[in-house]
Amino acid sequence: MSPHDATPAGPGPGPAPVAAGAAPRFAAAVANPKVLRRELTLNERLFVGPFVKALWYTFTRMFRKDITRRYPEQKMEVKPTLHGVPVLVMKEDGAPRCVACGLCEFVCPPRAIDIQPGETDRPIEREPKTFVIDMLRCIECSYCEEVCPEEAIVMSTEYEVVGRRREDFVWDLKKLLKPAQELAARIAWVRKTYKRWDAAAEIAPPPGGVFRDPRWAGRERPVDSH
Ligand code: SF4
Ligand code: SF4
Repeated sequence: MSPHDATPAGPGPGPAPVAAGAAPRFAAAVANPKVLRRELTLNERLFVGPFVKALWYTFTRMFRKDITRRYPEQKMEVKPTLHGVPVLVMKEDGAPRCVACGLCEFVCPPRAIDIQPGETDRPIEREPKTFVIDMLRCIECSYCEEVCPEEAIVMSTEYEVVGRRREDFVWDLKKLLKPAQELAARIAWVRKTYKRWDAAAEIAPPPGGVFRDPRWAGRERPVDSH
């Protein structure tokens, strides 16, 4: 007789006695059905077959093309469409393109942007005195890039944001500003995608006749006078 075939007998606190005439509670649970187990085959008991099968599987995978990347030695191939962290566009004279309008700060879902605007004598009139992005809050949604009327903030291809302290992730103007040439590919992609300066868009509207950004359809890209 197998040990599973019967309820083990012996001393111990057994189930509470059922009163005469009363229906036993949890009758189905105490029925103690017999556990049926399949006998293992000789191959399964020796474990040779499954072992050889696993070795063969591993061996065949050795000659296949890698589908994983050995990061960080192998970096990711970046394209202008990548949503890295947002950065600010720096003009040739080293000043930011930003006019501190505050639109990006207003639209940012996790409130990651903080701008303190200030006056300037240049024709631009306003510029950010401080411009801070908390990269721990930023979800890289690109709303700021989409809303900016000056193409002053764009998503970069930088995706490795590391630091030891919380302050390392709070980027200020000095860290955020990147030369426009460095961001040329993304800026070109932004113009193409949002069709802000596309003069042809007014002549040939997209199917449905709705411009993605009707404010700018047909206008020339203004020269950077500031
Ligand atoms: S990418 Fe999105 S979350 Fe990050 S700063 Fe811009 S608007 Fe805010
Ligand atoms: S939306 Fe553009 S111009 Fe306005 S504050 Fe943000 S970065 Fe500057």
